[in-house]
Amino acid sequence: MSQVCNYCSKNEALSNLMIEIGQLRVSTLYLFREQTYKGRCIVALNEHHTEFFHLSQENQDAYMRDVAQAAAAVEKAFAPDKINYGAFGDTMPHVHFHIVPKYKDGYTWGKMFEMNPADNKQLTEPEYADIIGQLRAQL
Ligand SMILES: [Zn+2]
Repeated sequence: MSQVCNYCSKNEALSNLMIEIGQLRVSTLYLFREQTYKGRCIVALNEHHTEFFHLSQENQDAYMRDVAQAAAAVEKAFAPDKINYGAFGDTMPHVHFHIVPKYKDGYTWGKMFEMNPADNKQLTEPEYADIIGQLRAQL
């Protein structure tokens, strides 16, 4: 039995973790439901590849432009003190970057961001819609 890719199938496991914000050049921008880091997003490549370096040069360039565009929107919308980037994928091996805004004196400032913070800060649907609206306005 082959492993299901949540990003490719856009299944319930994926929608339990994130909400689609919109389409970029070669990727999809998602809002991470866990919002300990306000504005935290994921940029997921649309095609299934397990490693960034497996992409053509053209797609590498387009994907990193998408990452930059998403991070710029997060900065404009929420004015974090720094943005962290994470690309791991041991258990979800489909190219995606975590865009994690960090705030001085905020959670794990000066340290590696936590993938799954203990507080598990889930918002209401109107609160998610508000954040998504602010990000879309800056894309
Ligand atoms: Zn995939």
